[in-house]
Amino acid sequence: MSHIDLPTLHDKIRTCQLCPLSLGRKCAVPGSGPSPAEIMLVGEAPGREEDLKGLPFVGRAGKLLDTALSQAGLERSEVFITSVVKCRPPENRKPKKEEINLCHPYLQAQMDLVHPRIVCLMGNTATQAVLGMQGVTNLRGQIQQGRFLITYHPAAVLRNRNLMEEFVSDLKKAKVK
Ligand code: SF4
Repeated sequence: MSHIDLPTLHDKIRTCQLCPLSLGRKCAVPGSGPSPAEIMLVGEAPGREEDLKGLPFVGRAGKLLDTALSQAGLERSEVFITSVVKCRPPENRKPKKEEINLCHPYLQAQMDLVHPRIVCLMGNTATQAVLGMQGVTNLRGQIQQGRFLITYHPAAVLRNRNLMEEFVSDLKKAKVK
């Protein structure tokens, strides 16, 4: 898919029917941000607000992410944000393995086109999907393969504010060249 440009890729995602998540979505959420971008953030899946608006991280977890980015000295406008699957799973359940596998070529194509220096994998689903590794609590703060920075998902930080300090400290590592 790397032969197409990013807007065309995102149009393809918006009309994609490759997996059953297309049946329940209102809007697919390809992602947003500059391209090329130094930093890419990868979450799990769109939630209710994201599904309604077609934009990533626009709900409460998105507000927390904005705050964490700001505390790390970053602006949302300078990072490209997307997720492992681009359509909302019913009742916000975790995406299934087959859904993740079917959607993965889109994420791979985004990484090829946006060409980030660092890809921040937020949460277990993103870490498992991209690196095949589990256990964010132990892995967080690590940079794997010189490029993939593992940290918490903002929704986890929303549930447990004690994680905020570590989340911000991880995001700071994405900033440092
Ligand atoms: S989640 Fe991904 S593979 Fe499934 S329908 Fe949406 S864009 Fe297509």
